[in-house]
Order: sequence, then structure tokens, then C-alpha cells
Amino acid sequence: MTQRKLVIAIDGPAASGKSTTAKLVAARLGYLHIDTGAMYRAITLKVLRSGLQGFYSKRIVELVSNTSIELQPVNGSLKILLDGEDVSESIRSPEVTTAVSSVSSIRQVRQVLVNEQRRIGKQGGVVLEGRDIGTVVFPDADLKIFMIASIEARAVRRQRELRQNGIETNLETLKGEIRQRDEKDSTRDESPLKKADDAIELDTSDMTIEQQVEFVVRKAQERLKATGS
Ligand code: C5P
Repeated sequence: MTQRKLVIAIDGPAASGKSTTAKLVAARLGYLHIDTGAMYRAITLKVLRSGLQGFYSKRIVELVSNTSIELQPVNGSLKILLDGEDVSESIRSPEVTTAVSSVSSIRQVRQVLVNEQRRIGKQGGVVLEGRDIGTVVFPDADLKIFMIASIEARAVRRQRELRQNGIETNLETLKGEIRQRDEKDSTRDESPLKKADDAIELDTSDMTIEQQVEFVVRKAQERLKATGS
């Protein structure tokens, strides 16, 4: 009998540990990792490059409809292709990080990307991470995790990540940026960041990456067992 493959949703605020956890959980289970934040970042990069003024213009909708975004797993990481170009690094720039919450609050942008996320994930065997996976994209996901962490822990993690890429940033500046992005993502009209009622909340402030991964993998195995797979 072939084993049933789950849809696993990992949501949570910025820098709460979703990406690293989702990537490693997917590797452990032999599932596909779908970083939906990277998709919103790629669209944002395209919008910024297009020089469109004011993010709510009609042209953004046209632009999104004529865009291809691919996520390719390469050596345990995800390569992000925007219209065929590798933008894995440029979507992490401060300019994109500052603009992404505004672009991702546009309904039509979300419609296009949510459809694509559902198309990729519907067969199961996927770990999707984002802000609205358990509430909007896959409200019937087999396992929903809502990751949180203290602002202190999140800023320290982000600082470490940026340092690895040769960028030095002040901790207080990072805290400000994270707070601002959370505020925008949680208060927007379209699919705001919020915990689904049936999601398991996981506070990662004092957890190691291994512990986070182990927690989610164990929950996934429990779900598979419960359904006799
Ligand atoms: O996960 P990451 O921090 O890379 O996400 C970047 C931004 O993309 C978020 O701050 C949010 O505005 C947007 N996003 C979203 N819905 C998702 C994933 C990300 O609106 N499912």
C-alpha cells in the first residue's frame, strides 16, 4: 500500500523559524517544501523593477498574471526562479523586505499566488509555510502548526542570518522592522496573519532547530498513524 501523503501548513510571524523548520521537515519526510513568502517576495521584486508607482495600480494585476514563479529544490535549498531568472538572493534584499507587505496585501496578487500554491500542494506530500496556509490556502490541511517566538529571539536569528551574508545590522533596527511587518501582515483586510483554530501553537523562543523539526515530524507521524497510513 502506498503511504498517504500529508499537507502540512506552517504559519507564523516574520523570523519565527518557519523556513528552516519547513525545509528540514520536508527533507525528513521526503516532501516538497513550498516557501510561499518567497513567492510574494518574487512578485514584489518584479513590481519594484517595473517602477510602478503606488502599489495599488491596475497594472500590477496585469503584471502578476504574466509572471512565472518556480520553486526548484537544489541541494537541500530552494532556488526561486522569476520568469526563468534565479532571484533566490535578490528577493532577500532590504528593498524587497520593506515593500513585500504592501504588495502582498493586494487581493488580486493573492488570488494568483494562492491558486498556484493550491495547484502545487493538492496531491499532498508538501510542507507549505507562510501566513495564511492553514486559514485560507489549505483550511483542511492534515497538520497545522502556528510558530511564534519572542521579538528578542526573532531579531537575534535574523541578525545571525544577515551576518552570514556579510550584512551587519543593529538589533533594535531589526526589532523595529519585524514589528512593523507583523503589524501590517496581521491587520490587512486580505487573509491577515492569524492562527487557525485547529493549529498547534509552537513557541520556538527557547528551542533548537532540531527540536522544532522533531516536534513537527512527530506530529506528522501521529497524523499518519491515526489515519492508518
Ligand atoms: O516568510 P517571509 O518573511 O519571507 O514573507 C515575506 C512577506 O510575504 C510577509 O511579510 C507577508 O507580507 C507576505 N506573505 C503573505 N502570505 C504568505 C506568505 C508571505 O502575505 N502566505
